[in-house]
Amino acid sequence: MALYEGNIVSELDGSSTGGRPFTAPIDLAAVHSQLDPLPPEERIAWAVKTFGDQVVLLASMQKTSLVLMHMFHRLGLRNEVLFIDTGYHFTETLQLRDEVMRRYGLNVVTLYPSLTAEEQESRYGRKLFNFVDGQPECCYLRKEAPLLRHLEQKTRPVTVGGLRKGEGGKRADLSILGRDPRTQGYALSPIYDWKSADVEAYIRQHDLPVHPLHAKGFPSIGCSPCTTAVAAGEDPRAGRWRHLRQAGFSEGPKYCGVNFSDGGGI
Ligand code: SF4
Repeated sequence: MALYEGNIVSELDGSSTGGRPFTAPIDLAAVHSQLDPLPPEERIAWAVKTFGDQVVLLASMQKTSLVLMHMFHRLGLRNEVLFIDTGYHFTETLQLRDEVMRRYGLNVVTLYPSLTAEEQESRYGRKLFNFVDGQPECCYLRKEAPLLRHLEQKTRPVTVGGLRKGEGGKRADLSILGRDPRTQGYALSPIYDWKSADVEAYIRQHDLPVHPLHAKGFPSIGCSPCTTAVAAGEDPRAGRWRHLRQAGFSEGPKYCGVNFSDGGGI
């Protein structure tokens, strides 16, 4: 597969970065319109050509992240693939991470929260995820904080994720490249315009391993205490934090905030 050899970089700063961190201002609208006609692999290749090892993939081990990990593999990238081990994952999620590492030889880096799950429960005197006023802090402590701590080592990180416009909600307004004010860097969504059918077709075409819980009614998979299967006809994300809505809170959380677009944590 040919890497992108276009002139986006030279148009923006007059030269290729040669893999060095890119610090010049980026015209997001210009980048979007130039990357939009390209396939996702070439959008990723552009980012790596522009930002070098500042580009990292945030891997949840769900279908879209399997697709992106496979693209990293096909492109021969050694850029970090970050997996955040919250301490509350399903065993199958950890097994899938290990399988992907074996199969594709990616540079997978597992990040951990400061406290173990047991230490956190002891310090806070409760399981934060069981309370609507505790869940945001739990997600921050166990997902966002380890990620941001790791990204502090970089000058202008570009976090690659599998968000898609078709998922609706805040994600409906996605662009390919957005700013991430948390890191002074960017968030890249190379498959922002893919439909579910495109994801499924790529998985079939390349015979990718998928999370076994998808076949058991879990279209969206997060931590085990906060994820259930969904019934036929339910929203694909209805199984996320269902227990908080069942506890009588009409508006339970929809996102953990670890992903970011210009619209905030999504
Ligand atoms: Fe905690 Fe649940 Fe968020 Fe996982 S998804 S970090 S268990 S609140």
